[in-house]
Amino acid sequence: MNVLKFGGTSVANAQNINLVLNIVNETSKKEPIVVVVSAFSGVTDLLVSAAAMASSKDKSYKEIVAQIEKKHKDAIDELIPLSEQSEVIDAVNANINQLKTLLDGCFLLGELSSRTSDAILSFGELLSSQIIAKAMQQKVKDAGYKDSRELIKTDNHFGKAAVNFEVTNKLIAEFFKSSTNRVTVMPGFIATSEDDNATTLGRGGSDYTAAIIAGALNSSQLEIWTDVNGMFTANPKIVKQARPIETISYQEAMELSHFGAKVLYPPTIQPVLKKNIPILIKNTFEPEAAGTLITSEISGKENPIKGISHIDKIALLTLEGSGMIGVSGSSKRLFEVLSQENINVIFITQASSEHSICIGILNADADKAQKAINRAFEIEIAQNKIDPCIVEKDLCIVALVGESMKNHQGLSGKMFSTLGKNNVNIRAIAQGASERNISVVINERDVKKALNTLHERFFEDNTKQLNLFVMGVGNVGEKFIDQIHQQKKFLKDNLKINVRVIGISNSRKMHFDEEGISLKDWQELLNQGEAANKDVFIEKVKALNLRNSIFVDITANAEIANTYAQYLEKSIAVVTCNKIACSSAYDNYSHLKQLSRKYNAPFLFETNVGAGLPIIDTLKHLIASGDKVNRINAVLSGSLNFIFNNFSETYNFHDVVKEAGVQGFTEPDPKIDLSGVDVARKILILIRESGYQMEIEDIENNSFLPAECMNTTNNEDFFTSLIKHAGHFDNLLAEAKQKNSRLKFVASFENGKANVGLQFIPADSPFYNLEGKDNIVQFYTDRYLDQPLLIKGAGAGAAVTASGIFADVVRIGNV
Ligand code: ADP
Ligand code: ASP
Ligand code: MG
Repeated sequence: MNVLKFGGTSVANAQNINLVLNIVNETSKKEPIVVVVSAFSGVTDLLVSAAAMASSKDKSYKEIVAQIEKKHKDAIDELIPLSEQSEVIDAVNANINQLKTLLDGCFLLGELSSRTSDAILSFGELLSSQIIAKAMQQKVKDAGYKDSRELIKTDNHFGKAAVNFEVTNKLIAEFFKSSTNRVTVMPGFIATSEDDNATTLGRGGSDYTAAIIAGALNSSQLEIWTDVNGMFTANPKIVKQARPIETISYQEAMELSHFGAKVLYPPTIQPVLKKNIPILIKNTFEPEAAGTLITSEISGKENPIKGISHIDKIALLTLEGSGMIGVSGSSKRLFEVLSQENINVIFITQASSEHSICIGILNADADKAQKAINRAFEIEIAQNKIDPCIVEKDLCIVALVGESMKNHQGLSGKMFSTLGKNNVNIRAIAQGASERNISVVINERDVKKALNTLHERFFEDNTKQLNLFVMGVGNVGEKFIDQIHQQKKFLKDNLKINVRVIGISNSRKMHFDEEGISLKDWQELLNQGEAANKDVFIEKVKALNLRNSIFVDITANAEIANTYAQYLEKSIAVVTCNKIACSSAYDNYSHLKQLSRKYNAPFLFETNVGAGLPIIDTLKHLIASGDKVNRINAVLSGSLNFIFNNFSETYNFHDVVKEAGVQGFTEPDPKIDLSGVDVARKILILIRESGYQMEIEDIENNSFLPAECMNTTNNEDFFTSLIKHAGHFDNLLAEAKQKNSRLKFVASFENGKANVGLQFIPADSPFYNLEGKDNIVQFYTDRYLDQPLLIKGAGAGAAVTASGIFADVVRIGNV
């Protein structure tokens, strides 16, 4: 005989019950079956709140009863022909009347005992099972009904009664020996005590009912039909990438369910494990899916981790003090107090110093536990031998589970480093001696991130998800997003990096989508977005708390540069093409670098110098491998190079500058380029990255602009002054011609001194033939003594800058 249990969602309404009837009809063709059903989805919760309201003198419980009655009568109308309804309607009416009487009693007395509560809760399964049994009779021949309360006998531990297996097994076996039913429908969750009081088996207990029956009947299989395709590698409602586990051992399943995988009620395993009856978890809404098979066999060659689960609403209690050291019996007393108060201990750790002991319990029990413990250790607390018990609430336990974990080293290391990299603070750690599970206690607000990042690390073929928050989507930003859009598939397939853009902002609007913004129509979405605000943007990034978050600054804005610390402190990486932060006061630059190290959050700014050219990255590798930079010579302004390469007798200076702006080669304010400030910032960054401490004021700027041009305060005046001083620029050009040289704006660093300025470059210099908007850098180092290391190529332009930013993002993905 096979036992099938259908959960709350599977029997939520007539439509779902029809699916159940089809499944039962098919299965019963092979062998006789028992069908255990839950209450209709949400009904047990409704009963819980009705009881709470009635006992607190709130009359609204009557509305809940009316709602429950309607739900069941609607189902009858849809499932059972009118002519067949009277018997089941009578049964429902009788149940509803009894329920009302009990609730009225609670209301009058203003009281709710656990015994009454069980009596009230049992109506969920009583109502559902009678309706489903009647509907079953319309569909399947020889379908009958049996009230589980007559067969399952328990003690009087209301709320979570313990089964008397000796009596129960006998009653079940006897009943089914004489039954000729092809299908027997029974209510889950409910039982009776020996003195015939209604009892329940604990929330989620219908699974247990089915297991008790399967065990008593030595069934060939126990099937748990629910609303997901089996037991998943993590709760599929929280981890989108979770997938069903094909096979899992009893022990592993028990561990996962004990640590919160609600798909199976933990005690369910016991009665079937003894008889080696396999459990199959199936989806009522996708019956063709394979589901999960739970047996005694251990498999785990491919991956020692079977699943990740979590329990939320946890509190940590810590008892510490010198009075605990070497004093036998402190922990015994502690656990005795908790047991007397009926408090379930979920998690325990004790440091080997015995100085403190830490236990995890449900939030709801925390206050009661704290009071009881302080009372029990009153004397030691008064003598300052033990501190009053400390309680921390709103925590969560996350557990990695797998039978084969004991044969693998380094799993806990991987777990902790994965969480650490994502700024998830671990409050406590425990590993069972069986090494079947490693559990950590973390803050509840980090749970989604923790589960997803651990799942990614242990189950997703090492695919890493990067979550981008892009500030500034002008010329370069637009190209950057286009490049991600084009490369997304390639990165996923080849580099196992899944890049998603979660937030974007320009100076007017911002838009967020936790599931990833559609990169096809991001512009439209941004236009309809909320008003831009850099502080709200930061708060949003923090609140979303996504793993591998990266803030990408594609502005030239000082205020935005001032926000980096706030991201880094939250372990959020920063990628920027904005030079302001790295060329600001040395203290600020080094503070950001320190934060990056401290919080394990990359801070990358390759595009600060030479756009997409790999200059800073190369420098980093030189330094890391022990080389020392002694001298730098460079042409670092793509814009100035473009300007001086095009400036001629026939193409006057200010027109060339205008054109450079139109083509996006200059900063939005061209004076920043022409004054040499931009180049000074760049050489400063290279000097700092080479390991020298320098400030922008230490760099000699030999400007070629007349003082009047330098003193202008807006773009228009600047251009007017360029026209006015056209003669000055023409003279520079003539002098260069006469010296047989070309004009280049050069940055140099040597002997601790740096300068930038326009130079007449002779024909034999490697700088002479620098074309278009190219950049060139020469590094003279201990290893590159005579012939410098040379990097040359396009050093300005939206596409190359965007690709440089992209390369930084990919660098983070490869870490
Ligand atoms: P039923 O009403 O059928 O008994 P439950 O709601 O008790 O169903 O259990 C199924 C739910 O368990 C799923 O919808 C899912 O949200 C949750 N769940 C939590 N962890 C897991 C997991 N590891 N695998 C599958 N489901 C899980
Ligand atoms: N109806 C009960 C509950 O909601 C039992 C169950 O569904 O398993 O807890
Ligand atoms: Mg359940």
